[in-house]
Amino acid sequence: MTEQGRENASVGDFPAEVDAVVCGGGPGGSTFATLMARMGHRTVVFEREKFPRFHIGESLLPWNMPLFDRIGVLSKLEASGPQVKRGARFYHQGSSFTRLVSFANGIDSDHPSSFQVKRADFDALLLDHARESGAAVFEEARVTEVLFTADGKRARGVKVLLKGENEPRTVEAKVVVDATGRDALLSRHLGGRTRDPLLDRSSAFTHYDTFRRAEGPTGGDIVIVTTPDGWWWLIPFSDGSVSVGVVMPSRRFKERKGTVEQLFEESVLAVPEVRELLEGSKRTMDVQAIADYSYRAARVSGDGFCLVGDAASFLDPVFSTGVLLAMQSAEIAASSVDRALRRKGRVDAADFKSFERTFRGANRRFERFVHGFYEPHVLETFYTPAPNAWIGRGVTTMLGGGVFHPTFGARLGIFAFHLSTVFIRVLQAIRGRGAFERATGILEPEKTP
Ligand SMILES: Cc1cc2nc3c(=O)[nH]c(=O)nc-3n(C[C@H](O)[C@H](O)[C@H](O)COP(=O)(O)OP(=O)(O)OC[C@H]3O[C@@H](n4cnc5c(N)ncnc54)[C@H](O)[C@@H]3O)c2cc1C
Repeated sequence: MTEQGRENASVGDFPAEVDAVVCGGGPGGSTFATLMARMGHRTVVFEREKFPRFHIGESLLPWNMPLFDRIGVLSKLEASGPQVKRGARFYHQGSSFTRLVSFANGIDSDHPSSFQVKRADFDALLLDHARESGAAVFEEARVTEVLFTADGKRARGVKVLLKGENEPRTVEAKVVVDATGRDALLSRHLGGRTRDPLLDRSSAFTHYDTFRRAEGPTGGDIVIVTTPDGWWWLIPFSDGSVSVGVVMPSRRFKERKGTVEQLFEESVLAVPEVRELLEGSKRTMDVQAIADYSYRAARVSGDGFCLVGDAASFLDPVFSTGVLLAMQSAEIAASSVDRALRRKGRVDAADFKSFERTFRGANRRFERFVHGFYEPHVLETFYTPAPNAWIGRGVTTMLGGGVFHPTFGARLGIFAFHLSTVFIRVLQAIRGRGAFERATGILEPEKTP
């Protein structure tokens, strides 16, 4: 990317009025802006930070690849030399439970791989692509307020504070898109967010210079190590370095004696599978943490506005779903907005109906798996070889991100997996308390009388 491509839109060209204002230049905001600009709508992006900047969320799913292609950024990504990811390797701490997922074994063979990316570079590339597609992009520009009409119903623009200025400027827009990620600018004004009590988890993470990666093509796989009360990720990058993170109940963070860094380092030492993979590696970054993170906004659209990506909802990242959900929700939102603007020159709540349905449906499908991941009977089902290959293929499709418009075959495979979890639950009850727990350290449910 040329320096020219990275430059802010000039302040002299600050628009007083546009078709679409996008708040936030992460993957969700960039995708929406790219598509809108390509469809000929006057689009402006306001991003609070100066890119490139660190962001967590580095493992991408195969179903993101066709989307990269649709927004015209796939060849740029390939040229940037990312790590190719062909699957996921799951291990359970201190046990023989292992599951090796190869995306090529999904229901269809069209989604065999994806990328592991450093988000600083990836997000900058996507935002540059939005610029090159015709969107005006202002970095170091913080949206301070979304403006509504006097009756409070219709979004009509934003107030934004540019770096070096003391007073926010106003931009009028036909549609305002909240893509501010976990800051969730708009949801705070729309009835807030609902936390998911089943996913009351927090995470600490960092980068290391190297790790013992598998030989051959599977060396780019994400490694997940499940533990009695959480899980670890190791995400390899193409330069040999690795992202390492742990997810634990939030209570473990709150009750810790020392710093988050100490908790992280002690936890590495306590899990042999992680410790051994990192033997001889050096940490290259401070340990960072994010607390209490799963939530859903009460509303995700209305007259003249919608929320995409993390601004709308956030799901525990065990299956690396966030970037796909952000970009895919942005793509669906852009097509709803384009249709409405062409038809009547404005966007109403009713225009977002199919956006809401599709987004919520995909979230629900992922959510069911994520909830299950913290339940012993689902975890045991997951680690038990599927009784037929077809169930395994359905689960692989889901893990690859095929949740937006799953084929009949994928739905059936996933349904059959959920059905097998009922069988394992009964089996656990019959076997009696202790067997699975002895093997995994995970507490089993009380035996049914
Ligand atoms: C611990 C952890 C691990 C994760 N691992 C993965 C993973 O492996 N794979 C995966 O796909 N996802 C993962 N995720 C999720 C992923 O990080 C997010 O889902 C994804 O970044 C969402 O994209 P987004 O565009 O919605 O928001 P973001 O990427 O958060 O972008 C939002 C942007 O808005 C800007 N902004 C905020 N407020 C304002 C404002 N007022 N004005 C202007 N700009 C503003 C921010 O600076 C930011 O650049 C993980 C998340 C966590 C917490």
